[in-house]
Amino acid sequence: MKGKLLVIGFGPGSFEHITKRAREAIQESDVIIGYNTYVDLIRDLLINQEIVRTGMTEEVSRAQEAVKQAEAGKKVAVISSGDAGVYGMAGLIYEVLIEKGWNETEGVGVEVIPGISAINSCASLLGAPIMHDACTISLSDHLTPWERIEKRIDAAGSADFVIALYNPRSGRRTRQIIEAQNILLKYRAPNTPVGLVKSAYRDREYVQITTLEKMLEFDIGMLTTVIIGNSTTFLYDGKMITPRGYQRKYTLDRNEQQLKPHERLKKENEPWSLTQEQALYPSENDNLSLEEKQKEGTAPLTLATEALRTLQQNQEIEIAPILNKEDAKVEKAVFQQESILEFAISSGIANKKFTAKQMKLIAEIADEKGEIEYTPHHQILLRVPTSHPDRVTNRLKNEGLLLAPIGDVAQVKACDFCDEEKDESIPYVNEIHKRIDGLKTPKEIKIGFNGCAMACYGAVKEDIGIVFRKGKFDLFLGAKTIGRTAHAAQPVAEGIEKEKIVDIIERIVQGYANDGFPNERFHKYFKRVKEIEGFTYRDVPVLVTEQVICGE
Ligand code: SAH
Repeated sequence: MKGKLLVIGFGPGSFEHITKRAREAIQESDVIIGYNTYVDLIRDLLINQEIVRTGMTEEVSRAQEAVKQAEAGKKVAVISSGDAGVYGMAGLIYEVLIEKGWNETEGVGVEVIPGISAINSCASLLGAPIMHDACTISLSDHLTPWERIEKRIDAAGSADFVIALYNPRSGRRTRQIIEAQNILLKYRAPNTPVGLVKSAYRDREYVQITTLEKMLEFDIGMLTTVIIGNSTTFLYDGKMITPRGYQRKYTLDRNEQQLKPHERLKKENEPWSLTQEQALYPSENDNLSLEEKQKEGTAPLTLATEALRTLQQNQEIEIAPILNKEDAKVEKAVFQQESILEFAISSGIANKKFTAKQMKLIAEIADEKGEIEYTPHHQILLRVPTSHPDRVTNRLKNEGLLLAPIGDVAQVKACDFCDEEKDESIPYVNEIHKRIDGLKTPKEIKIGFNGCAMACYGAVKEDIGIVFRKGKFDLFLGAKTIGRTAHAAQPVAEGIEKEKIVDIIERIVQGYANDGFPNERFHKYFKRVKEIEGFTYRDVPVLVTEQVICGE
C-alpha cells in the first residue's frame, strides 16, 4: 500500500477555525508529526494516532521522519499552525522528497491542506487592515540573511504595502524589530496605525492597536504578528481599516487626503470599486465584443481610461487598444492625474465679508465640475478636479481670499470684532492664525477667538476658546463640540497677559499635535493627559436623564 503525506495547516489555534478537510485529514491519518505545542492544540481531534513529537528546531528531521513513515505505507499528518505553506512545513516536505528523487506518479501521495494563516486571523481581530496590496515578511534571520530581509522591508515600505511581520522577536532575537521600525519610518508617518496580535484565537489572546512610532512600547514576542498599515490605513472606533482603493483627493498641504467613509463609497472617488468594477472587468459570459459595445456606447471605456489615468500619474502608458476610434490614432499619450483638490476659503480672520468679485471668481473656478459647500465653521469648501493646484490657489489668493487645508488640522475661527471696530485684539488672533492655522493634528481642532466678553461667536464652544476681556485674555479648554453630550469648554484661566497668549496657544496646539493619539479629539486628549501647560482637567459633571412623563 502506498503511503501518503497530509501536510496540514490547522489555522490560528482554535477548533472553530480549523477547516473541515484539515480535521478529516487529521482523523484519517495513522501518525501525527508536529511541534509539541501544536499537537497539544489539536489533541481533542485525535483518536488513536501515533504521535511523533519533536521540538521547535528539529524541522528537517521532522520532515525526514514524515517522509520515511509515508514510504513505509502510512498516512502521515504533518501539522503546521496557520497555513503549512506560509513559513510552515509544506516546502520542507517537498525539499526532502525531491532530494530522494520523488515524483507524483510513482512516489508517495502528497496533499497540502490549506489553513488560515496568521496574516488573516490577526487581521480579522484588528478590523480590516489588509484589504489592499499586502505582503508578509518574516524577521527571523535563522534561514535568511538579514541583509535580504532588510531589503525586503525597505522595498515593501517604499511601495506602500500593508506589511505583516511574522516572527518579529524572540528571546535572543530582539534587534530586528527595531531595525524594521527604523526602515519603515523612512517611508511612513510616525502615526501610521500598527496592530499587534499575540496568540490569535488561542488562550491568552492579546490585541493592541498602536502606531509605528510607539509600537515598541508594547509586548511583542514569538507568538505576535505585527501588522503595519499603509499610507491610507486609518483607525475608526478602535478598528484598523485600510480602504480598498486609493484616494483621489488632496488638500493644500497633502498630496493624498483621507476620505471619510461615506465619501469613499461615491463612484467618483473610486471609479474602480463597487458597482463600477463590473464595468471595468466585463463578465465572461457577456457575449458582446468590446467593439460592439463601443458602437452601442456601453463599453466601459471612459471608466477604464479614467482609472488608468489616475493610476499612471505622469507616466507614458499605452492605452491605444482600449480607446475609441478617434483616440486610437494616438498610440501613446501622456496623462496627467486630475484628482480633486479640496480646501477651505474664507474672507479673512476678522473680516467676514466677501466681495462680489470674490464670489464670482469662486463660482468661475468651481464651474460645472467643481463643488462649493458652505460649512458651519466660517468657511466655504471648494472641490475642483485639477492637476494644477497652484494655478487655482494663486488666483484666489490674488483676490484677497484666505485659503486653508481641510481635514485633521488646526483652524482658527474668530468673531468679526463688531465689524472690526473693536479691533484691539485682532493682532493677536492674526498672529495665532499665522503660527498654527493648518497645522496637522490628530483630529480636527478649532480655536475660537472672541474680541469681547459677549463671546457672541461662541468661542467657549470650541475645542479651545479665547475671549478678550478688559485688555486681557480668558482661556477655555476642551469643549465637546458635537454629540448629545456636547458641553462648553472649561474655563481654565482668566486675565492672561496679552503678550503671553500667542505662545501659550501655540504650545497647547503643538503639544496636542505631537502627543495626541490618532483620531483623538482635543477634549479626550485633555482628559487623558490631565494637565496642559499647567491647566488642569476637571471632570465634567455626569448628566442624569429622568424619564419624562408626557401627557399625564
Ligand atoms: N504557518 C504559520 C506561520 C508560522 S511562523 C501561519 O501561516 O500562520 C510563526 C509566526 O507566525 C509567529 O512568530 C507569529 O508571527 C505568527 N503566528 C502564528 N500563529 C499565530 C497566532 N495564533 N497569533 C499571532 N501570530 C501567529
